[in-house]
Amino acid sequence: MATKKDTAPAEEIRTLRDQLNDWSHRYYVLDDPSVPDAEYDRAFRRLEELEAEHPDLVTSDSPTQRVGDRPLDAFDEVRHDVPMLSLGNAFDEQELRDFDQRVRERLDVDGPVAYVAEPKLDGLAVSLLYENGELVRGATRGDGETGEDITANVRTIRSVPLHLRGKNPPARMEVRGEVVMPHEGFARLNKRQQEADQKTFANPRNAAAGSLRQLDSRITAQRPLEFYAYSVAQLDGEDWPDTHSGMLDRVRDWGLRVNKEVKVCKGLDAMLAFYEDIMARRVDLGYDIDGVVYKVDRLDWQRDLGFVSRAPRWAVAHKFPAQEEITVLNEVDWQVGRTGALTPVAKLEPVQVGGVTVSNATLHNIDEIRRLDIRVGDSVVIYRAGDVIPKVVRTVPERRPDNAGEINLPTECPVCGSEILRADDGVVARCTGGLICGAQQREAIKHFASRRAMDIDGLGDKLVDALVDQGLIKTVADLYDLKAEDVAGLERMGEKSAANLIDALEASKKMPLSRFLFALGILQIGEETAKALAEAFGDLESIRRAPLLLFLQVPDVGGEVARAIAAFFAEEHNEKVIDGLLAAGVEPQSNGAPSRRFVDTLTLANFLSSAKTLGMPLSGVGTKTLETLGRHYRHLDALVRAVDAGEGDADTGVKAATLEKLKEGLGADDWLECLWTAEEYAAGLAAKAPAGGADERPLEGQTWVLTGTLARLTRSEAKEHLEALGAKVAGTVSGKTARVVAGESAGSKLDKARSLDVDVIDEEEFIGFLAEHGIKLED
Ligand code: NAD
Repeated sequence: MATKKDTAPAEEIRTLRDQLNDWSHRYYVLDDPSVPDAEYDRAFRRLEELEAEHPDLVTSDSPTQRVGDRPLDAFDEVRHDVPMLSLGNAFDEQELRDFDQRVRERLDVDGPVAYVAEPKLDGLAVSLLYENGELVRGATRGDGETGEDITANVRTIRSVPLHLRGKNPPARMEVRGEVVMPHEGFARLNKRQQEADQKTFANPRNAAAGSLRQLDSRITAQRPLEFYAYSVAQLDGEDWPDTHSGMLDRVRDWGLRVNKEVKVCKGLDAMLAFYEDIMARRVDLGYDIDGVVYKVDRLDWQRDLGFVSRAPRWAVAHKFPAQEEITVLNEVDWQVGRTGALTPVAKLEPVQVGGVTVSNATLHNIDEIRRLDIRVGDSVVIYRAGDVIPKVVRTVPERRPDNAGEINLPTECPVCGSEILRADDGVVARCTGGLICGAQQREAIKHFASRRAMDIDGLGDKLVDALVDQGLIKTVADLYDLKAEDVAGLERMGEKSAANLIDALEASKKMPLSRFLFALGILQIGEETAKALAEAFGDLESIRRAPLLLFLQVPDVGGEVARAIAAFFAEEHNEKVIDGLLAAGVEPQSNGAPSRRFVDTLTLANFLSSAKTLGMPLSGVGTKTLETLGRHYRHLDALVRAVDAGEGDADTGVKAATLEKLKEGLGADDWLECLWTAEEYAAGLAAKAPAGGADERPLEGQTWVLTGTLARLTRSEAKEHLEALGAKVAGTVSGKTARVVAGESAGSKLDKARSLDVDVIDEEEFIGFLAEHGIKLED
C-alpha cells in the first residue's frame, strides 16, 4: 500500500509536468510565454530534484528528458540527423565549479581545461544546411529530433549567407546558431505594431521566434533579425579541426557571423572573469543574452564526454540573474512630479530582479494600465535591465484573483487635494494646484521667480530650496512677506544680498499682467498665451472670474488650454495664493480694459461652436449652421424662444429638425446655463471695452527689430511695449522690417538696416514714440 509520503511526490511531479508542458507549449509553439523564464526554471528545477529523489518516477516524456516542444504542423518537418539539444544550467558560481570538476574528473585531467566562453544569446536555435557552399535548408530546433522547415524565412536574414565564401566549400556542412532580434529593431517593431493596433511582443526572443515562424516570408523579411553561428553539427568533405575555437574560425571564414565576444578561457578564474565582464556590459550589447555558455574547446574531449538525455556533458549555460520576474501587485500609488504630472507606481511584493530587490515599479500612466489590463492583486511580470527603473511589462491573467481591483486615476491630487486634469490626449494627468501643491512648490516658486516670469533678481534655485527647507516660504505669496533679516541668516547670504533680494521682490510687484499670468505656472500657459489672455481681458480680475467659454475666444486657445485656465482659477487653493499676492501689494500692470477686438468675437455664434468643441452634444449641426443661427438670433433668449417654438425658419433656412437637435444639446448637462453665463459676462466686458473703431493697435502688421543696448528700458520691456501696440518684434533685419530701434553700440543689424534703407530710430526717439502712444516709462 502506498504511503502518503510516496503519493505526494508523484502528485507534485504530475502537476509540475502538466504545468511545464503547458508553459513550454506557449513558449516554444505559440511564441507567447505566460510566465517569466525564472518561474519556468524554478518549476523545472523542482521537478529535477523530485525526479532525482524518486528515479522510479522518471518517464521518457518528462520535460526533464525532452527538448523544446513538438513543431507546428504549418511547416514541413525536418528530421535532424544530429539531434539539436538543450544545455545544462549553472545558476551560480558553485554550480559552475561543480560542472568544471565533473568535466575534469571524467576526462581525468588535473590542470585547468580550456573552454570557449560565448554569450548565451536569447533568441531561437536554427540549423542551416549548406551543400557545396549553397544554403539548401534552414530549420528550427523543434523538439530536438524534428524541427520546422523555415528555409524561405532564413533566406531573408541578411547575416545568413546564401553561398559560403571561399573557393573550396565543404561538400556538406550543417551550422547551428541563434537568431535574435536586436533591441533597436525590437523597439521599432513594437512601436510599429502598436501604431497599427496590432499585438506587441513581450520581449525580443518572442519577437524573433514569431518573426521566423511566419508562413509568409515577406513578413519575416521586414523583421530585423540577425543570425550568429555557434557550432557545426555535420561536416563532410573536409577534416574537422581539433578545437571548437578552430571550428568557429573556419565558420567565420565561410562568411557566417560569429559573435565577437567569443573567447577561449583557461580554467575557472578566466571563465568567471569573462562572465563578470559580459554581465557588466550586458545592457550595452544591443541584443538580449541570458548568460554565458562554456564549451570544452578540444573536440576529442567533447566526443569523450558525450551527452546525457537532453544536453551535452561538455557544455554548460551559466545563467545571469533573471531580468524578468513575477510577483504580486499589492497596490498602486500615485506620485505627483515636480510639474504636477501624476505617475502611477506599482507597490509590489518584494522580488529579486536582475540581482536587486524590487518593491516598486513604474506603470507610466493610466493608459498603459488599461492597455496592459492591470488590476490590484494581479500577478505581474517585472522587467529590470541594468540600472533602468523596473517596470511592469504584463500580467499573468490566469493568476488573477477573483477580487482583483480596478485601478482608476484619482480625481483629487493625493498631495494637495486639488482637482486632477487630464490632457486631451488622455495620457498625462496633472494636479491643478500648482501654487500650493507640496510636490510642486519648489518648481512653482522657481518658475515664478525666473527671468521670463517675475524676474526676481537674486532668487535662484538654491535660495528657493533653502527658503523652503527653512520653512520660510510655502507658496509664492509668502515671498512678499520675507524680511531682510530672515534671509540674511541663511547660508551664503550676507546682509547686502538679503537687502537686494527684498528690493528685487519690491520691484517685481509691478510686472505686466502677461508675465504675472505666465509666472503663476498655469498648466498649458506659455508666454504667448499669457500675453493673449492679458491683451484680451485687460485685467486680472476679469480673467479670474471669466467663464470657460470665454477663454476659447482668445486667439490660439483651444479646449484643452481653456479647461486648464478655468480649472486653475476654480481651484480655491490657487485663489487664496493669488489673493495673498495682491494683498502683499503685487499689482500686475495692464490696459485695464478688454480689447475691442476680443469683445467683438464674443458672439452667440462663437459661443455655440465653442460649446460644441467642449462637448455639447450637437452631432449633425455644423459650424456653418451655428453661425447662421448665431448671426440671425444674436441673443440666447431669442434662440431659446425659436428652439422652444420648434418651427423651421424661412429666413435662415434652418430646418425644424436642426432646431430639435439644438434643443437636445441645450438641454444636456448645464450647457444652457453655461451659455447664459458666457453671454452675460461678455456683456459686462463689452461695457468696459473702448469704443469700436479706435486704433488701439497702430502697429498691427509691422515688424520691428531692436538692436544695441537701451539705457532706460530692457530689451524685453521694449518688446512688450511694441507688442502691446500690435507690432511683431523680430531678431533679424530684412527688407520687410518696418523700423529698427538702435541703442548704444548697435552693430551688424544697424548696418544691415542702413544698407536696406530701413527706417532707424534711436532710444530717445523711441521713448518719444511710446509716449505719443500713451506709454510712459517710469524714471
Ligand atoms: P536554453 O535556452 O536554456 O539553452 C539552450 C539553447 O541556448 C540552445 O538551444 C541555443 O538556442 C541557445 N544558445 C544561445 N547561445 C548559445 C551558444 N553560444 N551556444 C550554444 N547554444 C546557445 O534551453 P532551452 O531548452 O532552449 O530552453 C530552456 C529555456 O527556455 C529556459 O531558460 C526556460 O526558462 C525557457 N523557457 C521558458 C518558458 C516560459 O514559459 N517562460 C517555457 C519554456 C522554456
